[in-house]
Amino acid sequence: MTTTDTHCPYCSLQCGMRLAGGPDAALVEVLERPEFPVNRGALCGKGQNAAAVLDRAGRLTTPLVRDRRDGELRAATWEEALDRTAAAFTAAQRAHGRDAVGVFGGGGLTNEKAYALGKFARVALRTANIDYNGRFCMSSAAAGSRRAFGLDRGLPFPLADIARSEVVVLVGSNLAETMPPVLRYFRELRENGGTLVVVDPRRTRTAQQADLHLQPVPGTDLALALGLLHVLIAEGLTDEEFIAERTTGWESARAAAMAHWPARTERTTGVPVSQLREVARLFGRAKTGMVLTARGPEQQSKGTDTVGAWIDLCLAAGKAGRPYSGYGCLTGQGNGQGGREHGQKADQLPGYRSITDAADREHVARVWGVDPATIPGPGRSAFELLDSFGEVDGVRALLLMGSNPVVSAPDAVRVTRKLRALDFLAVSDLVLSETAQLADVVFPAAQWAEESGTMTNLEGRVILRQQALAAPDGVRSDLELLHGLAARLRRAAAAQTEAADPEDATTPEDPPAFRADAFPADPFPADAFPTEPEQVFEELRRASAGGQADYAGISYDRIRKEDGVFWPCPDDAHPGTQRLFLDRFATPDGRARFAAVTHRPAAEEPDEEYPYYLTTGRVLSQYQSGAQTRRVKKLNDAAPGPFVELHPQLASRLEVTEGQLLTLTTRRGRATAPARITSDIRPDTVFMPFHWAGPGRANSLTNAALDPVSRMPEFKVCAVRVERTEAA
Ligand code: SF4
Repeated sequence: MTTTDTHCPYCSLQCGMRLAGGPDAALVEVLERPEFPVNRGALCGKGQNAAAVLDRAGRLTTPLVRDRRDGELRAATWEEALDRTAAAFTAAQRAHGRDAVGVFGGGGLTNEKAYALGKFARVALRTANIDYNGRFCMSSAAAGSRRAFGLDRGLPFPLADIARSEVVVLVGSNLAETMPPVLRYFRELRENGGTLVVVDPRRTRTAQQADLHLQPVPGTDLALALGLLHVLIAEGLTDEEFIAERTTGWESARAAAMAHWPARTERTTGVPVSQLREVARLFGRAKTGMVLTARGPEQQSKGTDTVGAWIDLCLAAGKAGRPYSGYGCLTGQGNGQGGREHGQKADQLPGYRSITDAADREHVARVWGVDPATIPGPGRSAFELLDSFGEVDGVRALLLMGSNPVVSAPDAVRVTRKLRALDFLAVSDLVLSETAQLADVVFPAAQWAEESGTMTNLEGRVILRQQALAAPDGVRSDLELLHGLAARLRRAAAAQTEAADPEDATTPEDPPAFRADAFPADPFPADAFPTEPEQVFEELRRASAGGQADYAGISYDRIRKEDGVFWPCPDDAHPGTQRLFLDRFATPDGRARFAAVTHRPAAEEPDEEYPYYLTTGRVLSQYQSGAQTRRVKKLNDAAPGPFVELHPQLASRLEVTEGQLLTLTTRRGRATAPARITSDIRPDTVFMPFHWAGPGRANSLTNAALDPVSRMPEFKVCAVRVERTEAA
């Protein structure tokens, strides 16, 4: 039987698995791969059922274009779909300038696709407007880490280090439902005598396994971190030697924390002083300790500062830049880490290079074979990009790849309206997602096991997903899509350059239809967009060489042999870097920087009209917008639809019974789902998972208030009204 070693199509743990059978998709089977060190064979239900997502039923196998006569999507050839898209992009740029075309990527795209997409935007389209849905995922943690440490890698240490730490504080992460195999490390931590503290407004399955559970008011994680730091200082538990030798900015951070005395922290967060003292003492007295955050504290309009406050706690306790200690972010999407390193982010070039730095631009331009001056500057962040659709100076035409914002973007009613306001929308996806249904052109994309490509897991370990079977007839990879589009845009640019020759203009009334700012005078190299993933990766290595996320020493062969290589890895002989910051932080002076932040309320707090907090999250059997997992019968049967979790006290006040249909209303929209009554949630808070479209779409409710630094929307907290839905 043929077997292929690969990795799961879903989350950032990127569990190793072995696919057997095929070539028919229906015969493919998922087997354990115990030798892969991260999950050692363990898979959650999503991974175990990953073969079912390869099912051809419901797959797109031909491009679709919107018929100009009846407005319906109809089957088309690849040539027609590519021609129509290139023509629409050309027309939008001619009429409104280069930035009128936008590109929206995804944190699930392979490194090769993320790299090619960023290059496509900057070289083939020359638009500044590219960003991706990872902005909605971990951008606050990335911004906070960069500010403190000078570098952002989700975890600056391997996951296995968790088991050897004395105290781990897990903030706003429900690992038992998002990536269960990782719980193994927490079990080992406790078997080794360590302590797990979970911070979450809900007593989640993860919190149920903790030694201590702090249950703060949504949106107050920052105040909680400051309160803990206050106790640390007051009880003499700070590590003064570490602070003096390896940090800067302590005095300001100290002053900020001193204003958060315990009683004040309890009033703000709802966490009792006794718990505050217990956790601060545990963390301060331990020799090693970690703080790990996820979307809870990060998806806030003060997410960067919240992360900063938790990092300050680590620094003050001397728990960073040392073995088995430090701050880390548990990235969510499959390539949430790699997806942010290779240039599909509005402000970054490959290798974590800055788009505003002259030397960085020159290096990348050399690899791309273009003039650095032609690389656009920073563009709009993800939500701002979506929100610009239909505006006078906004994006008019969009290429969207690997994302389903109709379900997953905040304030989704507004985002859906904005998507409809585009002059032209092209979507690449494997199914006709809710967003693809709005498109003018839909490209059928190859997925996961149908193509090869690298991913970078939450530890910074670069792994290789290997192709196990052929894509269905009619389906092409996103690299082929970009190749085809780029070739057409290049021809259009060349034709326009020719047409722009003054000799060609016959009369002053007959000027060439060309705007100098719309297209380059010299089209980019003809071979700029290869279709083979390994060829793209080889170019990515060169583009990233010397950057912070340096992949120069990583190759497909090496990944196969070593089952993953940690970046930075500057050359073939380098072993890769499992642990960062042990000698120095990546700041100019080598010292970590305290953030010295202060608490502020959420952008929207409960009031008379909207009296409760709403928070959203995930369930075990669904993934992100559900576009993949809703197709898998076993997963969908286990979690067929949304629900509203509320406390018995609130249920009694509202006279709600289990299973009763509720309508949640915020200032942005409504959503309807049955009640699930549980004392595991705070009485002032309701929870709704976000994997579904339609009337139960949780993101109809969420708030797009943005963090001023990371531009992260405030998914995790807003004010809501809860009402029983009377039967029609
Ligand atoms: Fe896949 Fe994540 Fe589950 Fe592992 S934990 S099997 S990577 S979904």
